[in-house]
Amino acid sequence: MRVVVVGAGLAGLTAARLLVAGGAEVTVLEARDRVGGRTHGIEVAPGGWVDAGAAYLGDRHTELTALMAELDLKATPTGMVGDSRFELGAGDATRPGRFPPLSAVALGELFDLLADLTASVRVDAPWLTPDAAALDATTVADWAEANVTHPDARLFLPLFLGEMMAADPADVSVLHMAFYLRSGGGIRYLNAFEGGAQADRVDGGAHQLCERLAAPLDVRLSAPVRSIASDDTGVTVRADGVDLRADAVVVAVPPRLADAITLTPELGVRRATPATAPGCAVKVHLVYPTPAWREHGLSGWSVNAHGPLLSTVDDSPADGSVGVLTGFVTGAEAHAYAALSPAERRAAAVAQAARLFPQLPPPIGFHVTDWVNEEYSRGCYAALFGPGDWVTLGPHLTTPHHRVHWAGTETSTEFFGLMEGAIRSGQRVAADILATEEAR
Ligand code: FAD
Repeated sequence: MRVVVVGAGLAGLTAARLLVAGGAEVTVLEARDRVGGRTHGIEVAPGGWVDAGAAYLGDRHTELTALMAELDLKATPTGMVGDSRFELGAGDATRPGRFPPLSAVALGELFDLLADLTASVRVDAPWLTPDAAALDATTVADWAEANVTHPDARLFLPLFLGEMMAADPADVSVLHMAFYLRSGGGIRYLNAFEGGAQADRVDGGAHQLCERLAAPLDVRLSAPVRSIASDDTGVTVRADGVDLRADAVVVAVPPRLADAITLTPELGVRRATPATAPGCAVKVHLVYPTPAWREHGLSGWSVNAHGPLLSTVDDSPADGSVGVLTGFVTGAEAHAYAALSPAERRAAAVAQAARLFPQLPPPIGFHVTDWVNEEYSRGCYAALFGPGDWVTLGPHLTTPHHRVHWAGTETSTEFFGLMEGAIRSGQRVAADILATEEAR
């Protein structure tokens, strides 16, 4: 059996590896000149790598953890020792732990509301949730307008959604927010460092997962797939400079990019709708000679009402060769920041970091990764399902179209949007193809 895999991210490469192990002859076509997709490493000091894309994982990410072991990669704990910094409107503050200096009662009520929504969602099939149509028709912004009254909760909700989903509340339906939080293990787990979804990083960078997966595979780079035509005897895949014939195809790209490929026969229901929004994240890395904030009892964590850096975290390489503060610019703030000139971006980020951590010397390195304008991602951390999307798209998420099968983190109801979801989607699609094509 011959299979073409479209997309050399974690989903596509996981599928390719398992298909090869199952006896298939597999070619992976990748649009970029590198593998990894939304995992991407930057070398900020000789041998010191940071994650420009996905970084964090936790103990419930069992398939990712198993894959790391198979690929001989180690986890390193995310440093979160010391006080946090907050710039949340009512002056700045330094506090132990990560709880912001906002009304505990108001935030408690907000999290109770979110927990009720999260508990009500049918995570394996969100479109079958009781009241799905109504929850899917309402944006989080409209829901918050009606249900979240305390100013502190109103301030915090967009920051929380930005951090969790790189989402602006106007871009996602209530059903998608509830599904996403539940799919990722619940609010508490998703939001936590120690014992949660941010407990560890891949030592040396998550990009190594894809590089190691790809090494033994037939991967063609700089080959964006333009069309896929199924017929009675097989399927023809056309990419720039490559024409391939196969028995089956795996499309392992984000939904808006899947819709940019011409399919014959056409899809009855497309992979995205006009309401499907790109998640918006710009990642900023400020490199210092040492993680000097630690000497001042600070963890490097901050949460800020105003950008560009809505949060910061200590992502220094485990060998301590340099200090790295990662800044997250998410949601609406990401659009504004992405539109600045390189000099303006640097000035704004460096000034904010100096305000948050006055003890720091000027940075010795500065890197911006603008996922907002990445032609071959369109949605980071993941695509955002807007009003009506789950009801329209959900039932078709994993249904093959003739010889075309779907993978990618956005097709996984488990850990949707995360590396774990991408890997699980690759496993699912490989098992489906090996079963269906053998039966054909
Ligand atoms: P992708 O990685 O997007 O792979 C799709 C591939 O298809 C890409 O390589 C793309 O170039 C290629 N492609 C697109 N169109 C075509 C075409 N027409 N022809 C051929 N190839 C094509 N996840 C976590 O678990 N933890 C985190 O901490 C985390 N943080 C994140 C932070 C950022 C800034 C970003 C961007 C993402 C983050 N994520 C995180 C999400 C995680 O990166 C993704 O869920 C996961 O990597 C998606 O893998 P994928 O294979 O589904 O898609």
